[in-house]
This record gives sequence, structure tokens and C-alpha cells, in this order.
Amino acid sequence: MTATLMDGAALAAKVRAQLKDEVADLGSLGLATVLVGDDPASQIYIRLKHKAADEVGIRAIDKRFPADTPEEDVLELVAELNEDYGVDGILVQTPLPAQIDEAKVMRAIDPMKDVDGLHPFNAGQLFFGRQTLVPATPVGIMLLLDEYRIPVAGARAVVVGRSLIVGRPLAMLLLHQNATVTICHSRTDDLARHALDADILVAAVGIPGLITADMVKQGATVVDVGITRTDAGLVGDVDPGVAEVAAHLTPVPGGVGPMTIAALLGNTVRAARFRQGLLAFPRV
Ligand code: NAP
Repeated sequence: MTATLMDGAALAAKVRAQLKDEVADLGSLGLATVLVGDDPASQIYIRLKHKAADEVGIRAIDKRFPADTPEEDVLELVAELNEDYGVDGILVQTPLPAQIDEAKVMRAIDPMKDVDGLHPFNAGQLFFGRQTLVPATPVGIMLLLDEYRIPVAGARAVVVGRSLIVGRPLAMLLLHQNATVTICHSRTDDLARHALDADILVAAVGIPGLITADMVKQGATVVDVGITRTDAGLVGDVDPGVAEVAAHLTPVPGGVGPMTIAALLGNTVRAARFRQGLLAFPRV
């Protein structure tokens, strides 16, 4: 078997085209990004997000601080962006330097503008199955599964990685769509045993080649979230040999990455709808 590649770049282009129409209907939208420090990967992500925002007609607002910026300065900026009528979405790029408490910064963002879905209110809504703003990578993955008609209800889904931005929210979305979900992590004993059980296997770790063909059930859907920069370019967590066993596989690059950015723009449009009263946002 050679897996069908799930083309995230193509689906993301379709999603962006749809969003462009929605943005035109909603009027002027703004997405503010906050970058602290000069992490090269973060700089690339911010550039890609701005480019995609521009393409759909969302105004990108670029806020940057040097790496040694004190926490109060970042909190002050977030407070200003919360009050700024022209800002619909706020994204603080992680990781933040060690002197800044990430959780505190996320809590400071107005939940209605929290397009990364990391404010405890939005994370709680997801836990309750009443999604408000959900982190973009899991949203993008669910769109890809839907596009390729991958059955989720009743499927055994194994999510490797339990970060707040990918693994945990994705596990919740899969659970809400009635998958039977297992979450694996660095302390999981015998990862292969769990992985082999999966109809849907998601790797969100950041270790190239962690998932090998012998860990994958014949005919499974494998979603590779990992991004590691190597001399040979970007690589995921899934060994190329998996393509001989899986029925569906997301490539790296061109799979989950573009869907993450499209879903972020989707969250910005959703945030604008909340702010304009077109969608009801639960009282915080
Ligand atoms: P993270 O916060 O570092 O989390 C990594 C997770 O992997 C942790 O839960 C960790 O377990 C687990 N882990 C580490 N070693 C493991 C092992 N040997 N076996 C099983 N699990 C293991 O990373 P993240 O932010 O979720 O990102 C994960 C990867 O996805 C990274 O490569 C990142 O660059 C990429 N990413 C891609 C996109 C995209 O759009 N494609 C978006 C976001 C992230 P513990 O919890 O026990 O430490």
C-alpha cells in the first residue's frame, strides 16, 4: 500500500479563498501578533502568518520586543491590544523568554480576541464541548480529516504529544467527535503498542522518525504534526517508510503546517464575529 497524501496546502488554499469572501463581508479585520526575542523559527512563523493574513484581507499588526523585555511590558501591550477597537485577534508567539510567565500572558488576553485558544476560558469551553476559540493546529487537522472523509466516530485515535497547543486540544476535538482517544507522551511505556492500535495516529512531538512503519496499523490515517529543521529541510515525526503501511498520511511540509495558518485566520474571522455580535460569546 502507498498512502494517499493529505494535501494540506491545497485545502488551506480553499479555506483561505472562502475566508477572503467572509472578511470582505465583515469589513476591516485586524490580527495583532506579538513576538518577544529573535527565535528564528518564530520569526518565520510570524512572517507566514502575516503573509496569509494579507492575502485574505486581514490587517496584520506586527509587535516586537527584544528578548530581555520584562513581563510587565508584554502585559501592558496585551492590555492595549485588548482595548484597541481595530484589533480582532491577538496572538502571542511562543515560546516566550524565561523571564515571562506564558500562562500569565495568555490569561491577560481578552478571551474574545484569543485566536490561539490558550486562555483558560477558551480551553475550558473546549473541555466542556462548547468550542469558542480552539488552537489552530487541532482545528486544521480536523478539517483535513473531514476533507478526506476519514471516519472519526468510533475510530481508535492515538495522539502522541500532550502540549496545550496541539496534543491536548486535538484529543478533545477527537473525543467530541466520538473517537476513542489515547494520549501518549514522553513517559508512555511501550509507545508502539498504543500506536499500533490506532485507526488515526497523530504525532505531535518534534522527534524526526519517531513513528516507524512497524508502529502503524495497515490502512491507518497518520497525521504528522512535527516540524524539525534539518540540513535536508523540514522533517516531521513520521518515518517515510510509514507511507507503505498507512492509507492516508500528511506530508511535511505541505500537510498540517498550511492548515494551521488557515485555521488561525479562520479563528480571527470567528473572533470578529463574536465581537460584532454575529455569534454569541458566552459571558466570562
Ligand atoms: P511540545 O510542547 O514540545 O510537546 C511535545 C510533546 O511530545 C510532549 O507532550 C512530550 O511529552 C511528547 N514527547 C516527547 N518525547 C516523546 C517520546 N519519546 N515519545 C512520546 N512522546 C514524546 O511541542 P508542541 O508545541 O506540541 O509541538 C510538537 C511538534 O509539532 C514540534 O515539532 C512543533 O514544531 C510541531 N508543530 C507543528 C505545527 C504545525 O503547524 N505543523 C504547529 C505546532 C507545532 P511530555 O509532555 O511528557 O514532555
